[in-house]
Amino acid sequence: MLDFDTAQARLAAAGGHPSITETCALNQASGRVLAQTLFATLDLPPADNSAMDGYAIRHADYAPGKRFPVQQRCYAGVKPEALQPGNTIRLFTGSVIPHGADTVVMQEDGDETDNAFDIRQAPAKGAHIRLRGEDIQSGEQLFAKGTLLGAAEIALLASQGYAEVHTYARLKVGILTTGDELVSPGQPRGEEHIYNSNGAMLAALVENMGARAVHVLHALDTEDALQSAFETLLRDCDLVLTVGGVSVGEKDLVKPAIEQFGGTLDLWRVCMKPGKPVALAHVADKPIVCLPGNPVSAFAVFTVLVTPLLRSMQGRAQIMPPPQYGTLVTKKHFNDSREEFLRVRAESTPQGLMQLTPYPQQGSGIISSLSWASGLARIPANTPVTQGAAVPYYDLRHWLA
Ligand code: AMP
Ligand code: MG
Repeated sequence: MLDFDTAQARLAAAGGHPSITETCALNQASGRVLAQTLFATLDLPPADNSAMDGYAIRHADYAPGKRFPVQQRCYAGVKPEALQPGNTIRLFTGSVIPHGADTVVMQEDGDETDNAFDIRQAPAKGAHIRLRGEDIQSGEQLFAKGTLLGAAEIALLASQGYAEVHTYARLKVGILTTGDELVSPGQPRGEEHIYNSNGAMLAALVENMGARAVHVLHALDTEDALQSAFETLLRDCDLVLTVGGVSVGEKDLVKPAIEQFGGTLDLWRVCMKPGKPVALAHVADKPIVCLPGNPVSAFAVFTVLVTPLLRSMQGRAQIMPPPQYGTLVTKKHFNDSREEFLRVRAESTPQGLMQLTPYPQQGSGIISSLSWASGLARIPANTPVTQGAAVPYYDLRHWLA
């Protein structure tokens, strides 16, 4: 048996770095990975500007009871005149600070009558001005190569004027489900059949991570069917995921099919539950990962073992989400020779502690547990664990992103 952490590390290192880059419009870039390190070309904000609706003055001109004639009304987007001594310029949030002004008086702190402003309260010098470069300075690094772009990164890049960026081409993933007992949803089903849930599930998992599910194929349990499926998948994809057919059953023909393409398959009995049989092969440097057939096992193995590999092949710098912990809420006692990944729902107590409640049925056939769960709780092998134990928590929002 291969321990879980070793299996995870080996899989994470099993793929190559992406080689194809492309130019991507910034408004199409969400979920894409930067293929270049980007630097600021501008100070942000690019000019001193007003944080308030108010009046710009030179602080030295202030004296109690003094009236300031309004020289200009300078709306955001209008170029300010240079402030004449003793005057004020009416400003709005975002208006550029006029040359010669050093202080903004909020409109609430005075009264404008007959085109002049009376200040009710002594202003602090420099008040309500956002300084040029206080956010970002020109030349500073914005994002390193390998950064996953989301709304926050896109906001900063847009504020720097980037209309397009170099990203890695989306990773092409091929999915192969196997089994004579499976029919596609929408097809007539005999008593001896079940619907194929892994194909659609894996396609959704892959697409949600920003990769492309280029093919979702199904093969009957015959050498010919498997071989022709692998031909297509190895031609068109960077990474192949297969499900089922890798145990030691008579119909477990995935291994010989891969061997016909020159790949050697390392069959691992990973010490985890659900999901024991997991295999890795390479054909012409392309990784093939074979997942267990039960949908819950396939989901769990994909989440904790395959996503680091996928992120690494996408060129992402961060391939492991940061560790999290929660406290188990259960009446059961756990103690298994394998690491157990329970489907749990996380809730926060008013004190801010994360509590993890397992789904009542933890069998690897219980598909309904997946949509119920917010994540997986890891119960260490050969360790008695019960109510109140602190255990690692794999939040699906992080692990499946
Ligand atoms: P196998 O490893 O092929 O023996 O599959 C293990 C179990 O998972 C069997 O009960 C299969 O019927 C089931 N299974 C395999 N592939 C799928 C799939 N694509 N959708 C739903 N169940 C599957
Ligand atoms: Mg099968």
